[in-house]
Amino acid sequence: MASIDMKNIVKKYGDGFPAVNDVSMDIADGEFMILVGPSGCGKSTLLRMIVGLEDITSGDMVIGGKKVNDKAPRDRNLSMVFQNYALYPHLSVFENIAFPLRLQKAPEDEVKRKVNEAADVLELHEHLQRKPANLSGGQRQRVAMGRAIVRAADAFLFDEPLSNLDAKLRGQMRTEIARLQRRLGITTVYVTHDQTEAMTLGDRVCVLRKGVIQQVASPRELYEQP
Ligand code: ADP
Ligand code: ADP
Repeated sequence: MASIDMKNIVKKYGDGFPAVNDVSMDIADGEFMILVGPSGCGKSTLLRMIVGLEDITSGDMVIGGKKVNDKAPRDRNLSMVFQNYALYPHLSVFENIAFPLRLQKAPEDEVKRKVNEAADVLELHEHLQRKPANLSGGQRQRVAMGRAIVRAADAFLFDEPLSNLDAKLRGQMRTEIARLQRRLGITTVYVTHDQTEAMTLGDRVCVLRKGVIQQVASPRELYEQP
């Protein structure tokens, strides 16, 4: 687990107006932070800079007290869950969840133990031998989360993970993500444009607008504003 500290982060694509413009924010170890704001405000760009999928134009990204500006995504020890799940269609659920452990060349008994633990938490046991194509949207989302939790990552990053699900499932998965995050106590950054997710999931909500932080507050503080 680790804190995520952003210091004066700027991102420019080409010579246009900055997509992220001087963002500074400290996310505490174990905290659940929501990034919210209208389409194009820079949420995904900010998340991608935390993960290392996007270069920073200027500023410092500090994870667990270490500056990571020049570190490749694989050297940052973060787990990201994408909107489209990014599962491997030719692999079983078991192997999809095991994937990060295979990359680390973990021994077989450890792979089995960790995948089974994840399957317990996410109620995926009877689906372990299936292929992603034979799962529902919610089950696919669970597999993506399983893959994120098998590694002892320093933080979870979510990019609108529930936006492809119907309303009922969205509600269920919202509860599940909140439960999982509390159980694991892992630093989490979660991008959404859904008000309900923003108001129910996080410890704090960061409201972005045109690449700038408008405010950072607890859901309760935001709710009680006139
Ligand atoms: P959000 O996730 O809040 O919808 P984004 O971070 O995707 O916002 O985008 C922020 C701004 O940066 C937008 O104006 C978008 O068009 C621009 N942008 C995002 N990615 C790129 C890119 N690869 N090249 C050029 N402009 C981009
Ligand atoms: P979202 O709103 O979910 O962030 P978008 O549809 O805005 O997704 O962006 C999808 C992809 O296109 C992202 O990888 C983003 O970086 C890229 N992108 C967004 N805006 C631009 C742009 N103006 N020019 C080039 N690429 C862009």
